[in-house]
Amino acid sequence: MATVSVSEIIEQVSRFTSMKEEITRLVYEQSWVDAQRYIGTLGAKLGMNVAVDEMGTAILSVRGSSEEKSAITIGSHIDSVINAGKYDGVYGVAAGIVAVSELVRQYGQPRKNIQVLSFSEEEGSRFPMNFSGSRFVINQVPENMDELKDNQGITFSEAKQHAVSQLHETLSKGQAYEVENFTEIHIEQGPVLENQKKQIGIVTGIVAQKRFSITVNGQGNHAGTTPMSMRKDALKQAMVLIGRLEEIAQEIGEPLVFTVGEMHVFPNVSNVIPSQVVFSIDIRHMDMNVLQLFEDRMLAQIRQQKQDRLMEILVDCWLDEPAEKTNPELSALLDQICKEKNISSHVMSSGAGHDTQIMNLVAPTALLFVPSRAGISHSPLEYTSAEDLNTGKDVLKEFIYRLAY
Ligand SMILES: [Zn+2]
Repeated sequence: MATVSVSEIIEQVSRFTSMKEEITRLVYEQSWVDAQRYIGTLGAKLGMNVAVDEMGTAILSVRGSSEEKSAITIGSHIDSVINAGKYDGVYGVAAGIVAVSELVRQYGQPRKNIQVLSFSEEEGSRFPMNFSGSRFVINQVPENMDELKDNQGITFSEAKQHAVSQLHETLSKGQAYEVENFTEIHIEQGPVLENQKKQIGIVTGIVAQKRFSITVNGQGNHAGTTPMSMRKDALKQAMVLIGRLEEIAQEIGEPLVFTVGEMHVFPNVSNVIPSQVVFSIDIRHMDMNVLQLFEDRMLAQIRQQKQDRLMEILVDCWLDEPAEKTNPELSALLDQICKEKNISSHVMSSGAGHDTQIMNLVAPTALLFVPSRAGISHSPLEYTSAEDLNTGKDVLKEFIYRLAY
């Protein structure tokens, strides 16, 4: 039977790109079809059963002897952001395939069914929705999904039809097994493991997050003739607010993260006092109560500024996602495996979203990280050493062994 390494799969998938000089593999593009077909064909070569569901998720499975309906499930995604790196998502698919095929070669048929899911889409880089692959597997797709359009005006349903039918020419149609539990291995996409010199991150959960849009309404006026005491400068009020929010974030302390990443100033002219500023706030923490504490203090500060300066400050909370906690027993098993194998590990939360949070809605989950060099991801500079990739795969392999054999 054929063998393949994690690095080889990652290199191979990185060649499927829609752009010449960079990796861009958005869901249902031709590069995506080619990558998913490669994954399916590889699974078949390695002796796994292969099927592709309606959404385009490839299901690579090994039937267990126990005749159960459900499967020990491993998965991640093969779509990418624009101008991406090689490892995000693809690593989890590659490590799953290699781990399972090695297990079958060494130990034969497992007791339980095992499936590796190469999810169709996670990044939300083409259509205004993410996690469509894993949402379909758990039967929770949004109602309007098929009508969503990309920036060319192509609907999700048209793009899907065109791409998935190509896969079904060579790979059979099918559905994932019921998920008994779900495990994902992913690059960290942050600097913690590298800084702490740890090989494996055992993730206890994916953070809760809230996003706000803040609008400060002042009064536009002449920059030369309006005395300072008579101004309603929206930008200066926004700066005071952001400065105070930074202090609040520092007072609450890590692991809370607070970001103002977007700002629009009107009219954005050098000799006019700004009449309006709109900016974003993104806050994340495992504990929703900490986010609430930040929000309460933010609202108190805003009330005070409105009173002091007689200005209007509007707050719109447009995203409010609870934390998803992974399964403590599965995490404990991962911890035990790392200790037995003398692999250094670090218990942490994830500040980024992953398919795991969707699968967590229906099944116990586990999430593992390997280090990202300099914490960089969603960039061509994304890098994890072959050694770290293999260590992660070995931990995953042992984990699947304990669950499925
Ligand atoms: Zn990812």
